[in-house]
Amino acid sequence: MTVKRIAVLTCLDACKVCTGAGCLNAWNRREHGFAPYAGKDVSLEAFFHCNGCGTEPETDAGMLEKLDRLQSIGVDIVHIGICAVKDRKNGMLCPHIEKIRELLHSRGIETIVGTH
Ligand code: SF4
Ligand code: SF4
Repeated sequence: MTVKRIAVLTCLDACKVCTGAGCLNAWNRREHGFAPYAGKDVSLEAFFHCNGCGTEPETDAGMLEKLDRLQSIGVDIVHIGICAVKDRKNGMLCPHIEKIRELLHSRGIETIVGTH
């Protein structure tokens, strides 16, 4: 069976106060956003953050390197953490994360909003 390779993308600002425990707990228990993987052959390959509010993902060499790395290790799906959802009522992502999402799609990597 082919192993699905998963990564998690989060907000750098949120990570100043967050250990990532909520995401990793949900992953370990296959709950919330990760519930569809229960009993499936999946691996968590990466956990990465945006590079901050003042950066432009399309021209940020560090971000492009991260996205290329995800592609080279065969990540299939990136789950976007709830900290990257800036308008919870309408489910709108931070515009930077939206750009990163487009860059992931252009590399053939699927995205899903939701971790814990
Ligand atoms: S650009 Fe958006 S996701 Fe990144 S640190 Fe700023 S608010 Fe968070
Ligand atoms: S989604 Fe929650 S646990 Fe995961 S990095 Fe964001 S704030 Fe932390």
